Parts: sequence; structure tokens; C-alpha cells
Amino acid sequence: MRSSGRSRAIRAPATGSADRMSTLRLILGDQLSTSIATLRDIDRQADRVLMVEVDEEATYVRHHQQKLVLVFSAMRHFAAALQQEGVQVDYVRLDSASNTGSFSGEVERALQRRHHDRLVVTEPGEWRVRQMMLRWQKDLGIPVEIRADDRFLCSLAAFAEWAKDRKSLRMEYFYRDMRRKTGWLMEGDKPVGGEWNYDRQNRKSLPGGMTLPRRLRFDADEMTRQVMQLVKTRFGHHFGDLESFGWATTRADAQRALAHFISECLAGFGDYQDAMKSGEDFLFHALVSPYLNIGLLDPREVCEAALQAYADGRAPLAAVEGFVRQILGWREYVRGFYWLHMPGYERSNFLDAKRPLPDFFWTGKTDMNCLHEAIDTTRRHAYAHHIQRLMITGNFALLASLAPAEVEAWYLLVYADAFEWVELPNTHGMALFADGGLLASKPYAASGAYINRMSDYCSGCRYSPDKKLGEGACPFNYLYWYFLISKEKQLRSNPRMGLAYRNLSNKPEAEIEAIVAQAEDFLENPGREAAQI
Ligand SMILES: Cc1cc2nc3c(=O)[nH]c(=O)nc-3n(C[C@H](O)[C@H](O)[C@H](O)COP(=O)(O)OP(=O)(O)OC[C@H]3O[C@@H](n4cnc5c(N)ncnc54)[C@H](O)[C@@H]3O)c2cc1C
Ligand code: SF4
Repeated sequence: MRSSGRSRAIRAPATGSADRMSTLRLILGDQLSTSIATLRDIDRQADRVLMVEVDEEATYVRHHQQKLVLVFSAMRHFAAALQQEGVQVDYVRLDSASNTGSFSGEVERALQRRHHDRLVVTEPGEWRVRQMMLRWQKDLGIPVEIRADDRFLCSLAAFAEWAKDRKSLRMEYFYRDMRRKTGWLMEGDKPVGGEWNYDRQNRKSLPGGMTLPRRLRFDADEMTRQVMQLVKTRFGHHFGDLESFGWATTRADAQRALAHFISECLAGFGDYQDAMKSGEDFLFHALVSPYLNIGLLDPREVCEAALQAYADGRAPLAAVEGFVRQILGWREYVRGFYWLHMPGYERSNFLDAKRPLPDFFWTGKTDMNCLHEAIDTTRRHAYAHHIQRLMITGNFALLASLAPAEVEAWYLLVYADAFEWVELPNTHGMALFADGGLLASKPYAASGAYINRMSDYCSGCRYSPDKKLGEGACPFNYLYWYFLISKEKQLRSNPRMGLAYRNLSNKPEAEIEAIVAQAEDFLENPGREAAQI
């Protein structure tokens, strides 16, 4: 049920004492922090917290089953913890008979159940939901206060100020400003060690036979098992495996996962953050993005834990700087960037990309082993690490000119950490270059040689990364050159593409013709080999 748009007298009559104001405080599924602005001035006697599991949010894209379990189970655990603290919580389960299925409908029902003088909420992570909230005051006939989400290290106002008058918004400069502001890894106004960024040391492939850290995963408790059953029954047709669910659903467990990462993995994070290995889903990555994004962990505490490890000599500077940059730099930057460019950011299509998403993005059934591995990990864990997202699935989507809207819907639904404020800039801007360079200075396009250097995928593939054309040639090779050829109008003038275009112009005409013929033949039906599996 949606609100009609007109102000209505829907509120329950006042029952409490006349001088005590009652506030309804709505907490969304990605706002599971006791420090959330919504709760700040709560009056435990007079106020109620409203939490709702709604069908509209579970299905506007068909989220991975594990993502639904994570969010609903974490919500239930959070509500129980609040209740133990003496907070009155009005919790609406997905399968409650009268659930209207939408945020607006559930707020309206809560106001009918009990009198409240006002509604307080913290701004959401998605433009669409913010627009919905902005209508509530008028539609529901109650004062609505939308508070800033101050769980980030950079406010939206501070980001807008930083962006003002800049010709280009490069993350690296934002990050340096954030280092100066926080004083993290700084000696006076200079970066510790003399460099802002140690990525040159951070691009190693995994040595053969290296022992990888054991990862901390969590068994489902009774509450999570109940949610798993619910999700299986209602959303069993959504993408992804349910049984391998191993995410933390409470703050205490998320903190354990963070501590485990810091002690077992952080030291190796820098060196191997771009590496990929068959059958190894997590390597040295932190696995904390779902917790950060739903509020179980706070970005400040995550960065401070890494900084402490550096101070104690438990992790090298390059690893800690690399890790802190992901959160203080990238995560804060994409959030500011999203709100600065919305609405409408998602509508650009600079490279005029139109092809449909091949079926193997859903099944993982493809002879291209790198794609098979990245998609299979995604199916089993609602997770793939950054380089799999950017340089395997993202790189393929870019080179194959897949329609941004289809690719973005895929990324938004398959990952447990996917919320539009963070998914969209990463996919539309970083992976697909669909914004024409607002976010990235050049497309992240790579041939099979890069994938072969950074992974062991090619040794298990029917294609050869060394073969450029003809039977058995790695599709990433001819697709890379075809991408340069077919997008020349848009990309040749990009100064960072100069070398690539010089290399292209050295190719004999016959080779160009062969590249075009093989790439176009492949792109007619990129999933055709799946039929042979
Ligand atoms: C196409 C594409 C889509 C992506 N979609 C999402 C998404 O929906 N949600 C999401 O949280 N991240 C997204 N990322 C960023 C990144 O891949 C994930 O944050 C990371 O893989 C999460 O795993 P981790 O916690 O093990 O991260 P680590 O590699 O260990 O990094 C540590 C933390 O840094 C932060 N971080 C790192 N890179 C980024 C980035 N580019 N943007 C924002 N935060 C970053 C995350 O909070 C992450 O937990 C996307 C990247 C690409 C290329
Ligand atoms: S050969 Fe090409 S398709 Fe196969 S795994 Fe390597 S990069 Fe991927």
C-alpha cells in the first residue's frame, strides 16, 4: 500500500501525558548502529523505535538470498538488543499478516496504532528512499525530521565544499585532505614514510604454495536460521546459495571478524590486495564491507584498529596505508560523489554500451575460467573481492559494452554489501566508465595478460592468455583491442589512453580486421560456449 500523496488524518488519538512529547523513530536495515542520529535523544518512556521488514525493499531488485538473510537477521538481533536496553521497539516482520510491504505503508500503520507527535529518521543511502521520506510530512500529516547520517568520516556538506570549483574530483586528492583532517598516518603536514600512497608495493601476485589465513565465518544461530527459512520460502528463486551463509549478524560478531582480520590478514593485505587464486574466495581481504554498510561496524573504529596494528608493529606501513585508503579514501569519496551527482548520475552512457547481460552472469557457466571463478564466489558468498569485481566481471562488462543499467542492477543485487550510494559510483563510474570520466581518469580496461599476471585462473582455462587471435585465443585479448577500436571516438583524446592508441596504430590493417571479425563474432553470443558445458 502506498501513500496517496494527500495529507490525511490518520494518527491515533493522544493517550500519554499532555506535556510529554512522543517520537516515532524509524531505523532502516542499514542503520543498525546504536550511535545512529535517530536514537540520539531518545526518551525511552515516551518514544518508540519502528523497524520494518518490507517486501518492496527485498524485491525492487532480486537481492542475493544471503544479503536478505544478513539484513533481516541483523535487524532482528539489533531490535532485540535495543529491547534489552529498555527501548520500546515496534518490529514488523516480513511475514506479519498485515504488513503492507512498503516503508510508507508501515510508517502510516505505526502512526495509526499509536499516537506520536513527530517522526525522526536518519537520511537513507539511496536517492529513491530519500524522495519517499521527503513526502511523508505532507502525506502523513506529522512533522518529519530527517537527520544527517554522521556515521561517515566526511559529511556531505564537507564533501560538497571540497568538490566546489574543482574541475575534476579525483579520489587521491580527497584522500590526502582526509589524511590531513584526521591526522592519520601523518607527521605534521607530511605523510608518514614520505609517500601518500604505497600501491606500487601492493600489486604482487601470490607466490605458489603460500599458506593463506584461515577466515572467521559464523554459524547461524536460531534467529538467523528462522530468517533463512523465511528467505528460502519467499525468495528461494533469487540469485545465490543460502546454505553457505557465514556472515556475522551482530555487532559483537562483526567486531570479532574485524579483530580476526587485523591479527591474521592485515599484514598481507597490502602485498596481495590485487591477487586472485582459484578456489580461494577471501585471501587477505577484510570482509567488513557488509558490516560497515549496515552499521554493525563504524568506519572510524575499523581504521583505528588498523592504525593501532601499525603503531604496535604488527602490520607494515604499505598494508595499513592501503587499507586505510580504501575506507578513509574510497568509501567516503564514493558516498560524497553519489550524493553530489544524484539524481541523474545513472542515466549517462558515455560509451554508448547496449548489449544485454549474458546469461552466465547468473549461472557462472562459461569456459572463461576467470569469469566462472568470480561469479561462482559471488553465488556462494554474496561476495567477491575488489579486483574480481573490477578487473574480471567489470572489465568484461566494459569490454563487451554491456548496458550500464543491466550491469548495475546485477551488482546491486548480488553482493551483501551493495547499497546504491556505494554500488553505483563503483559500477557506473569506476568499472564501466559510463560517466565519461567524472570518477575515473580512464577506463579500467585490461587484456588477458593482466588477469594471467594477477591470478592462476588461466592455467585452468580452455583459452590461452598468450594467444591473441584465432581458435583458443583469450576473449579478453581481442575484446580489449576491439574496445579501443570501437570506442575510439570517445576515448582517443583522453591523455591517459595515448599509449594504448599508439600501440593500436602500430597494428597492421589485416590484424585489425581479424580482431574486429573475431570480437564481433564472439559478442553476437558471448554465452554460446556455456551450452557446450
Ligand atoms: C564494480 C564494483 C562494485 C562495487 N560495489 C560495492 C558495493 O556495492 N558495496 C561496497 O561496499 N563496495 C563495493 N565495491 C568496492 C569493493 O569492491 C568492496 O568494498 C570490497 O570488495 C569489500 O570487501 P572487503 O570488505 O573484503 O574489502 P577490502 O578489500 O578488504 O577493503 C576494505 C574496505 O574498504 C572499503 N572499500 C574498498 N574499496 C572501496 C570502494 N571502491 N568503494 C567503497 N568502499 C571501498 C570497503 O568498506 C571495504 O570493506 C565495488 C567495487 C567495484 C569495482
Ligand atoms: S585465458 Fe582469458 S578467459 Fe581464460 S582465465 Fe585467462 S583471462 Fe580469463
